[in-house]
Amino acid sequence: MSPSPVWHPFTQHALEPAMKRVAKTEGSYLYDEDGNRILDAISSWWVITHGHRHPAIMAAIREATEVYDQVIFAEFTHEPAEALAEGLLAFAPPGLQHVFYSDSGSTAVEVAIKMALGTFHNRGIARDRVVVMEHAYHGDTIGTMSAGERGVFNAPFEPLLFGVDRLPFPEAGREQETLDAFERFCRAERTAAILIEPLVLGAGGMKFYASGVLASLKEIAGRYGVLFIADEVMTGWGRTGTRFACEQAGVSPDILCTSKGLTGGALPLAATLCTPDIFEAHLSSDRRKTFFHSSSYTANPIACAAAVANLKIWRDEPVNERIDALAAQHSAHLKRFENDPRFTGVRQCGTIAALDLVVPAGGYLAEAGPHLRRLFRERGLLVRPLGNVIYLMPPYCTTAADLAAAHDAIDEVASLALAKVGL
Ligand code: PMP
Repeated sequence: MSPSPVWHPFTQHALEPAMKRVAKTEGSYLYDEDGNRILDAISSWWVITHGHRHPAIMAAIREATEVYDQVIFAEFTHEPAEALAEGLLAFAPPGLQHVFYSDSGSTAVEVAIKMALGTFHNRGIARDRVVVMEHAYHGDTIGTMSAGERGVFNAPFEPLLFGVDRLPFPEAGREQETLDAFERFCRAERTAAILIEPLVLGAGGMKFYASGVLASLKEIAGRYGVLFIADEVMTGWGRTGTRFACEQAGVSPDILCTSKGLTGGALPLAATLCTPDIFEAHLSSDRRKTFFHSSSYTANPIACAAAVANLKIWRDEPVNERIDALAAQHSAHLKRFENDPRFTGVRQCGTIAALDLVVPAGGYLAEAGPHLRRLFRERGLLVRPLGNVIYLMPPYCTTAADLAAAHDAIDEVASLALAKVGL
C-alpha cells in the first residue's frame, strides 16, 4: 500500500509507525481494522463524555439530517440552535444570557477574547491586555497560542504571537503570589480580561489548583472591572465532578467557552456564553460596533441537534451518579501509587486521574513518552501521556473492571518505560 497522504495532528510522521484505521467506535471502545478493541481512556482527546455513539445522540443526528444540512446563520436561525441556547443557559452558571456559536474549542476562546476586547473598544475604554496563567493551553490558532504557554509547540510562530500578562501557577501554599500578581496587573488599568482554565490546566500537564484561587481571582476581577473568561472547553460537562468547574468555586464567569462534551463529543460544535453587559456593548445603531466574527459552519443544525440530545441525557440519565462512581474508583485505585517512588503528584479531580512519572529532566521525557504510549497500546489502551504526566480521562460509561485494568496498566507500564530509558 502506498503511504497515506494524510497529515495527522501532533504527529511526527518520521518517527511514528503507520496508523491503524479505526473501523468502529462504541461505548468506551475503539475497534481497529484488525478487530482489536481499545479502551479509549482519554475520551478521544477529551470529547466523548457518555460514551462513543450514545444511541440518543446518534438518533438525534439521524433525525436532524432528514430536514437540515448546513444553514447560513445570519438572516436566519433554526430550532436546534434556539433550543440549545435555551438549554445551555439553564445548564451553565447563572448570569450568562447570550450564546455565540462556533465550531471548536480554539474558536470558542478566540470569540471570547474578541468579545472582551470589543466590549472595551466599543465603550471607548483603553483596555487591551489579557491576563492568563502560566502553563495555560487554550488552543492552536495564533490568538489562542498567544494566550497559551510558549514552548516547543509554538516556537516557529513566536514572531506572530501577541503579548499577554502571565500569572504564576498557584502552587499549593503559594496561591497568594498568583493573586498578588493579578492585582498588580489590574491596578495598571490596561487589563480587559483574565482568561483561565478553571481548576485544571489540561494540556499544560493536568495541573490542579484550589477552587478558592478561582473564587479570589473572580473577586479581584470584579473589583477592577476586568472580564472573567472561563475556558471550560476541557473542564466542562462533568469532567471535574460538576457540570462546569466554575461551580465548585461558586463563580459565574462573564464569558464561558464550551466545546468538546457539548455534543457528547459526537460532532464538532462550540459555544461562547456571555452576560448581557457584553452583548449590550455590541448593540448599537452604529454598525461599526457589530461583533465581527463568523465561520461558515456556525451553529451547524445537526451538531446543535446532537447537543440538544446531550442536554436531554444530562436531564434523563444518572450522569452525575456515573461521574461520582468513576471519581470514587479513581481515588481508590490511585492510593496504591501514593507512596510509590516511581511517581509524584498523584492527584484526582472528578473523572480525571493523573500522576507524574519520576524521570530526570527533559531528554528522558521525550524518550519515555512514546514508550509509554506504545506499551499502553500493547495492552489495549489508548493513553497519551503529556511528557511524563500519565493521566486517565475516560468516558462516563467505562466499567469498573476496565478502569481497574487501566490503573493496573499504569503500574506495569511505568516500570517497563523506566527500564527503557535506563532507570
Ligand atoms: N481550551 C482548552 C482548555 C483545551 O483543552 C482545548 C483542547 N484540548 C482547547 C481550548 C482547544 O480546543 P480545540 O482543540 O477543539 O480547538
